Amino acid sequence: MEMFSDIPVEVGLVHEGERIRRKEMQVELGGPDIPDKFELVRVREMDRVEQGKISIEGPDLSEMEQGKAYPLGILVEVAGPALEEDLEGVFERRIHEYCNYIEGVMHLNQRYDIWIRISRKSFQKGLTSLVPIGKVLIRLFQSELSIIDRIQVTFLTDPAKVSGMAAEARQIYDARDARARGLSDEEVDTFYACALCQSFAPSHICIITPQRFPNCGAISWFDGRAAARIDPKGSIYPIAKGECTDAVKGEYGGVNEAAKKGSMGSVHRVWLYTGFGYPHTSCGCFEAIAFYIPEVEGFGIVDRGYKDVTVNGLPFSTLADSTAGGRQVDGFHGISIEYMRSPKFLQADGGYGRVVWMPAELKERVGAFIPEEIRGCIATDGEAKTVPDLKAYLAKVQHPVTARWMAGGSPARPGEIPRSAVFPAGDLPVTAGGVRIIFKNARIHADRVIIQPVIPRKEEKGA
Ligand code: SF4
Repeated sequence: MEMFSDIPVEVGLVHEGERIRRKEMQVELGGPDIPDKFELVRVREMDRVEQGKISIEGPDLSEMEQGKAYPLGILVEVAGPALEEDLEGVFERRIHEYCNYIEGVMHLNQRYDIWIRISRKSFQKGLTSLVPIGKVLIRLFQSELSIIDRIQVTFLTDPAKVSGMAAEARQIYDARDARARGLSDEEVDTFYACALCQSFAPSHICIITPQRFPNCGAISWFDGRAAARIDPKGSIYPIAKGECTDAVKGEYGGVNEAAKKGSMGSVHRVWLYTGFGYPHTSCGCFEAIAFYIPEVEGFGIVDRGYKDVTVNGLPFSTLADSTAGGRQVDGFHGISIEYMRSPKFLQADGGYGRVVWMPAELKERVGAFIPEEIRGCIATDGEAKTVPDLKAYLAKVQHPVTARWMAGGSPARPGEIPRSAVFPAGDLPVTAGGVRIIFKNARIHADRVIIQPVIPRKEEKGA
């Protein structure tokens, strides 16, 4: 493309969705090994923004050791008479999209969770500085969003500067989220759909409602409204809510229609406030996962920042593999932290009365939104590290889920799967008669699952 002729690598849609494995990377910026990282867009007064300015505070790519991870903060400042604060979150999400257009740049997640890799191949082609990335951001922002009159980009890689500014950014995200609280799904006729993550999860479409923040936690209903207003043909667009056919599960005619259209027929129904049945699809940049623990008939929740294994013995990454990809997986549900602060949070499943475990740090973050009578009943990693520990804890504190155990006799023993459980099989391949049949999003119900090691038979004598 002419506008990128001075950029040492290609820039275009074709590079969206490109994955860069550890062994192929030159450096990593942010990501799970780096505690402080962020990306932030701020709307400023005209005189505070110098058109086209790109600054790097700290070492540039060429000064970073190959194969290592570094802190990163991306601050994009914009100005223009028609700009308003509500647009900051929407603009910020574009950083993900635009970075992914650059050959050899992989950008994952958002806000305080960004994870970027630069490929060795692109570094060798000349992408040895953050400056070309800044140029691409500036040009794409201004060519796609004409209401931006001035824009400047600052990359922070100095650890002390990133850490100071990351703390400030967190306060800005919190204030933004708080602004969006107070409006209910019943009060509006329009929801918003977001298709930004389709480059990674083609059948995924987020439904943004006042009380169900989308999976990435980065775009509120107000942000969606502002985005649709400035770019009606963009990736975020309005959808008529339609008739509410189930207020508890959160099923709306307009949402089903939008999901069907947006997922190109892969998804027919969406229940917004549950992790079972037809849960909202999970792309890949969800902030947390609600995962069903059949042995105690409750949900565990783990956030992306939790490094240890969860109470069921699986780390976030493994649970994410079972959840992501734009699928609807019964009992595995990608969510945002802000949705955990909503009165509609897993409403159809019992809300916090169905949550049995989460990391202590996450519990502290959302603690004020957990009903007081349940708060002490939810175990953390401090109280339960295994399912038997969890079961004992829940019985001791008489967690509301224990009433379900009584109703059904007793919870299944660890290792035994209850009759009602449904487990994700993902894309289950079966090879038979020379052809391969793939069951997409298969749901398998079984009365009992028996797992036995296969012992090869000894050959019979004389055979
Ligand atoms: S997670 Fe949802 S709302 Fe966020 S960028 Fe992706 S599709 Fe859009």
